[in-house]
Amino acid sequence: MKNQVSISALLELIRERQSFVISSHLRPDGDAIGSALGLMHVLEALGKKATVVFIDPIPPNFQFLSGRERVARTFPVADAAIFLECDSIERSSIDRMQFDATCPELTINIDHHRSGREFADFNWIDPEAAAVGCMIYDLAVAAGVPISRGMAECLYAAILTDTGSFNYPSTTAATFAMAQHLVQCGANPNRIAADVYFSNPASKVRLLGIALSNIQIDGAVSWSHVTLEEMERVGASVEDCEGVANHLIGIAGVEAAAFLRELPEQDHFRLSLRSRKALDVSAVAEQFGGGGHRNASGCSIEGTLADVTGRIVAQLREACSTLLTDTPAVEPPTLPSILIA
Ligand code: 5GP
Repeated sequence: MKNQVSISALLELIRERQSFVISSHLRPDGDAIGSALGLMHVLEALGKKATVVFIDPIPPNFQFLSGRERVARTFPVADAAIFLECDSIERSSIDRMQFDATCPELTINIDHHRSGREFADFNWIDPEAAAVGCMIYDLAVAAGVPISRGMAECLYAAILTDTGSFNYPSTTAATFAMAQHLVQCGANPNRIAADVYFSNPASKVRLLGIALSNIQIDGAVSWSHVTLEEMERVGASVEDCEGVANHLIGIAGVEAAAFLRELPEQDHFRLSLRSRKALDVSAVAEQFGGGGHRNASGCSIEGTLADVTGRIVAQLREACSTLLTDTPAVEPPTLPSILIA
């Protein structure tokens, strides 16, 4: 097990306190929801009071997770606040005014992003971890709590989704060992995949059709967008745009991809970036005030569609040309996820 020092220090901080509030980023994805609920189960197994807070709704395909009916929208009084997958309190699902009003005595940050920041009192950042769900799994094992079926399902869903269904380069033998143990503890891979990947609303699949028809490809770069009008036409929600970017990087020969979603504020877009191998799109996102992982990152960006597309595609072309000159000719291929996660 890695990070034994961090884990034991964290467990000591937890043992000394009674009540916890847990949150993750806005528009929570599988790792945010699964690791937050998984951690809630771990804390409860240690005899603690734990509340998960999300302002945005839990998407329908994660509604099966144990404890999701107890997710709160307001910040309760607690001894400590634990942030998962966030680089700041601002990026979390926690209202800053509510946080300041209750002001927990301790803040804890658990993250696996390369762009993770030490913004809390205690920071456990492991960019090698395939998912924050893996870190919570390590915490549960180190704490010696029994892994219930509910906890196992939450952590399995977190790991499944953040590894792109065990496709991303972060997936190792240790990831499969964790998944195996979680299945032994009651997580049903078939049922979880059915809920997560094969229960999409029709609006999501229709929106994907529009995004795929908007694809442009130039050499090793692909990009696409959806406008607000296109989203409205098929009744698509913001959550329905999750995973579109994975399709753009699933094209043979494409090394970097960008997906733009128009925001209600005029000339504002959400950008999702994807890449393969050593091409680091977190560095590109960081230039625009965002962040993420080497092969998956994002940010908000201002400008007209043509202007924003031009700037991003130029950056990605530049990143690809640097990579192609720096990288040895023969390298094993890496697989992007092709699932509509
Ligand atoms: P997605 O494209 O799926 O929205 O995000 C891909 C990855 O980039 C996720 O790990 C997500 O947390 C991260 N990410 C997306 N947008 C932002 C952002 O605005 N700031 C930071 N720091 N990370 C982001």
